[in-house]
Amino acid sequence: MTDTDGNRKVIRRALRDLSAGRDHHDTPTPEALKGPLVDSYGRRIRNMRISVTDKCNFRCVYCMPAEGLAWLPRADILTFEEMARLTRIAASIGIEQVRLTGGEPLVRRDLPALVQMLRAIPGLKSLSLTTNGVALPKLARPLAEAGLTRINVSLDSLERERFAQLTRRDALEQVLAGLRALEDCPTIRPIKINAVAMRGFTEAEVVDFARFARRTGYVVRWIEFMPLDADQIWRKEDILTGGEIRSIIEGEFGPLVPITSADKSETARRYTFADGVGEVGFINPVSEPFCGQCDRIRLTAEGQLRTCLFAHIETDFRALLRSDASDAEIELALRQAVWHKELKHYIGDKRFHRTARSMSMIGG
Ligand code: SAM
Ligand code: SF4
Repeated sequence: MTDTDGNRKVIRRALRDLSAGRDHHDTPTPEALKGPLVDSYGRRIRNMRISVTDKCNFRCVYCMPAEGLAWLPRADILTFEEMARLTRIAASIGIEQVRLTGGEPLVRRDLPALVQMLRAIPGLKSLSLTTNGVALPKLARPLAEAGLTRINVSLDSLERERFAQLTRRDALEQVLAGLRALEDCPTIRPIKINAVAMRGFTEAEVVDFARFARRTGYVVRWIEFMPLDADQIWRKEDILTGGEIRSIIEGEFGPLVPITSADKSETARRYTFADGVGEVGFINPVSEPFCGQCDRIRLTAEGQLRTCLFAHIETDFRALLRSDASDAEIELALRQAVWHKELKHYIGDKRFHRTARSMSMIGG
């Protein structure tokens, strides 16, 4: 068997694997093989999250075990060139937004170089980053200079001890310094803060975070806790819904004023305060699932494409990228994978099964 035969086999296997065990087994329509990326439910896919590493320097209780996870060997992780090639192909058929994530994306060496490579890809309208912020004092400026324009910083507490309790790292001051470093980079706007909402922890600082949003101009959003934690501590009772957090804020500040967004796939319910100062948002994947409008796919650090956070099936794009598959063949594999995107996540339903991966291994 020649090398090429081996590569063809990889490509054929990847395409065949796609049809096994999905919500349904239809093959893409001729239109879906030509036009913009679309799934079998008619959802137009515009957004790709790329995990650049599985490693992290925090150990957030809702994500990672205290001792960390077994990190992937370096050779298993996609190179910047492989990520850029796949992004170029994806952008040529309709991916418009890319978000870099992880693990902690800023622990990947030379991340600004990847930002610069991706910025140059035609068709990409937005390139953003989700980070725990601890390396921003050093990296905010290089990222801005490389062309990053949007950022989400995860921050669950404004109190040093509570922050350390949740992240298992005494690093609040560094994250706040990172946010100040972003203020000196006006091309990265808005600055968004994400907090995971967990009953029994989050309530205590909801009002403080609302004040923080009003004082700083950062957009503060709460995201409902999802069953994606490595320690499997998630229980339905631990979810603090966006609705409950909104009530706490309204109890202090009076009725919030909805902000309507032109973007139909926007996951956050956005609000401002009666005086128009400050913005807060609620991402409610559990209490108000938005699967019907989901326009996302995710690429793990080792190049597995997931069409849902809770997917049980992945497509091995690393094998394709490291084979002699042409761009056209990779495009076809992408269309096929997207076509089979899951209908919904089923959290709270008896059909729900946890995925083998936790959030940091997927790329949140
Ligand atoms: N390390 C970076 C960070 O924390 O921002 C990027 C990766 S992290 C996995 C991406 C996002 O997922 C973060 O905003 C984090 O708060 C969120 N996240 C992690 N575990 C979660 C869970 N079980 N439920 C909901 N959100 C979660
Ligand atoms: Fe690391 Fe982000 Fe997971 Fe926290 S949420 S452990 S910062 S990957």
